[in-house]
Amino acid sequence: MASHDYDVVVVGAGPVGGRAAHLLAEKGFRVLMLEEHAEIGRPFQCAGLVTPSAMDAVQAHHTVLEEVDGALIHGPSGTLVPVGTEGTLRTYVVCRKRFDQFVVQQAMESGAELWLHSSPEDAKMTEAGVELHIASEGEHRKVTCKLLVGADGAHSWTRRTFKMGRPKELMIGFQTEVVGYEGRDRWLEMYSGQDIAPGFFAWVIPSGFGSHRIGLWSTADRLEGRSIESCYQDLIDHPLWRDRFENVTEVARYCGPVPSGMVKRTVKHRVMLLGDAAGMAKPTTGGGIGPGFHQIQCVLEPLVKAISENRLTEADLKQITKKPWEAMKREQDRARTLRNLLVSDCSDQTLDKHFRTFAHPSTLELINEIGDIEKPVPLGMALLRQVPAFRPLALKAGVRLLLS
Ligand SMILES: Cc1cc2nc3c(=O)[nH]c(=O)nc-3n(C[C@H](O)[C@H](O)[C@H](O)COP(=O)(O)OP(=O)(O)OC[C@H]3O[C@@H](n4cnc5c(N)ncnc54)[C@H](O)[C@@H]3O)c2cc1C
Repeated sequence: MASHDYDVVVVGAGPVGGRAAHLLAEKGFRVLMLEEHAEIGRPFQCAGLVTPSAMDAVQAHHTVLEEVDGALIHGPSGTLVPVGTEGTLRTYVVCRKRFDQFVVQQAMESGAELWLHSSPEDAKMTEAGVELHIASEGEHRKVTCKLLVGADGAHSWTRRTFKMGRPKELMIGFQTEVVGYEGRDRWLEMYSGQDIAPGFFAWVIPSGFGSHRIGLWSTADRLEGRSIESCYQDLIDHPLWRDRFENVTEVARYCGPVPSGMVKRTVKHRVMLLGDAAGMAKPTTGGGIGPGFHQIQCVLEPLVKAISENRLTEADLKQITKKPWEAMKREQDRARTLRNLLVSDCSDQTLDKHFRTFAHPSTLELINEIGDIEKPVPLGMALLRQVPAFRPLALKAGVRLLLS
């Protein structure tokens, strides 16, 4: 029996790496987390929305800055679609630094080790394990493990080193933290239109202590050479909305990638990708924390067995992940198809028409009944099936869904 320094090495101590390390260390495995930065949770590029199911998983309620009951969504010409119910919690807004630190702390309390200022430089596969060369605090160190987990974010070293493909879409997100915005308590706001966020939307999210996060996201091809900052400026100066932003003072700004669309090869011999590294963010909201948590949770039981038995060949890992992760990929593909059809591939004129339909009381009732941030596909399908104005899109959707 070959001996290893660790059972599992997790590259990246973000929320998903931290969660995976916790779940595996809790089962008694020797787990090492490598984090390239000197601190957990910095720099952060995130609106901080955490769904109730992801929050329940980690019980990090003390990191919550605000609770949100719904979204006030604005069409390009200003049609308002309020989604949510006063007093019914839809999502949390967290301090990402404290959230990430708490998740990593849970891993350490379960026995996982953390090396800060540490990144892998090279990895060699052997029959019995992985030999990893690490630059750590200015020194070179070598460790061996049974399984290497890449939870190292959008530009994953693990994914590139083992040539595991690319996420289908790479959205660019931009966000500022401001004071002086007057919003409705417990509601976030969303703005749409080609000037503001081509194909996607902008957001204003309450982030506690009188501050708000104003951001937007889009893709490079949809931006057609414009910078994401210029779209942000167009939101702030927009004739319909500028009154709302005239008293804001910016205190910070961030820009970051949102990889969405599961990569072709999420596993290889003794290597597994999780979270942003695997392209798990939702195509509809950009949320990546919940899907990353689900991705590890849904394979945990067979994975624990396979690590115990050191059966971690590519075939073993594929067998463990194939069914649950293919289901996640299918759901992601369907959500993207419906998003493109109803929002992303529409001109402002068509989007305005859709918003007028969304705002109709019977459609709003349907949205509030079926709408779920975590599962957008059932709502998209219900809209196409049950709203007469969307029926012409149903055939197109059917064809695209069949081909997706
Ligand atoms: C503007 C914006 C807003 C967003 N808003 C939300 C939101 O509201 N809700 C939501 O759920 N998601 C949101 N996201 C997406 C979310 O931030 C990510 O999906 C989430 O952070 C993914 O977690 P992760 O652990 O997979 O990766 P990351 O959070 O990126 O963590 C990866 C970790 O790996 C480390 N690392 C990277 N490379 C190496 C290396 N070679 N060696 C060692 N360590 C390494 C990094 O330093 C980092 O700590 C947003 C993204 C953007 C850009």
